[in-house]
Amino acid sequence: MAANLLYVFWMRLTFLAGGFAALLAAQPYDLLIKGGRVLDPANHVDRVTDVAIAQKKIARVADDIPAADARKVLNAHGLLVTPGLIDLHAHVFGYEGSIFPDDSALPACTTTIVDAGGAGWRTFDEFKAKVIDRSRTRIYAFLNIVGHGMVGPTFESDTGDMDSAKTAEKVQQHRGLIVGIKTAHFGRSGWTAIDRSVAAGKLAGVPVMVDDKITTGSGRTSAEKLIEHMRPGDIHTHVFNDRQLEVIDRYTGKVQPWIWEARKKGVLFDLGHGAGSFLWPVASKAIEDGFFPDTISTDLHSSSIMIQQADMTNCISKMMHLGMKLEDAIARSTIAPAKAIRRQEEIGTLGVGRAADIAVLQLQNGVFAFKDAWGKKALAQRRLDCALTVRDGAVVHDALGLAYPEWRKAGNYEVLP
Ligand SMILES: [Zn+2]
Repeated sequence: MAANLLYVFWMRLTFLAGGFAALLAAQPYDLLIKGGRVLDPANHVDRVTDVAIAQKKIARVADDIPAADARKVLNAHGLLVTPGLIDLHAHVFGYEGSIFPDDSALPACTTTIVDAGGAGWRTFDEFKAKVIDRSRTRIYAFLNIVGHGMVGPTFESDTGDMDSAKTAEKVQQHRGLIVGIKTAHFGRSGWTAIDRSVAAGKLAGVPVMVDDKITTGSGRTSAEKLIEHMRPGDIHTHVFNDRQLEVIDRYTGKVQPWIWEARKKGVLFDLGHGAGSFLWPVASKAIEDGFFPDTISTDLHSSSIMIQQADMTNCISKMMHLGMKLEDAIARSTIAPAKAIRRQEEIGTLGVGRAADIAVLQLQNGVFAFKDAWGKKALAQRRLDCALTVRDGAVVHDALGLAYPEWRKAGNYEVLP
């Protein structure tokens, strides 16, 4: 009798397992995003098509992938489907205004954040344990040349704590997470902060991001900084803050010749919007003159997120208002920052085999107020908004409920999703 029961149980189990395996084979994809305008600048894709995801990777981009092939299907008609946005400059550790990344990044379709110098070699392990390891958002770091990191003016101007060798050594220890060196807020004269950062960058083979005040008596000029001290691939952030770079010649209203020269040499210019670094007069003159930032980033922290609302979609919308084409703005928020940190083989595209980090965006028409860092606004007619975010193959933000069934049709409430 007992043997009989066991046999029946065994038969049922085999039947169930067989059915389950058949279902799996019939549904090779975990998620299918159907019918959106897929914009993937790195692969020159711009058309209405489908994107399928399997095992946390982009599995296929093709027309008319059958809905039956996926366990979950999202209808993205009328929406844009792009690689997850990459914010090259934000603050999630160290800096007094730093914020935990997920709450602000994922609702803005940002799937990758590069922390811009919050930690130095002395504090990186704490950063990793407290933030990087606990975030759903993918986090990389520019390591501050200051050993203690971005913890206030006294530390940030202390040349005694700017050790290129120790900084480079920390990069070597965490190659997967540290993508560059940062120097910021150096309040003294001379080139020590920038030169030690570049020395660390050379030792570790990574780029340097520069945030640098040019004030009277600093002994530095923007032209010399860009041409003599920074290397091709190094990044100057806060490009539209004219106290850091003076991009626009005040007499001619044109982009300075040495800015063009630096770009030709390979220095990259990053937006780094923040609470003080995006000014309508500077940005509009630069863009009128054909000078666009190479990468669009937020410099997100507790002030800029509240007052200027400078998240990635807001920054992209502002660039579009000033004349940047949508395709171009997406490229400068995805593949361009991925290349700047040399991660283009993993993120920044919807190429097959890449990480399934995806943004589903909505281009809205109406009247929208976009604020700059100096208390002025511009009224615009288009805005890009984040509809849905996929991180590592999972839907992590869904403003329009695209992944939700209508409750009356969904059936059983007793089964947990
Ligand atoms: Zn910053």
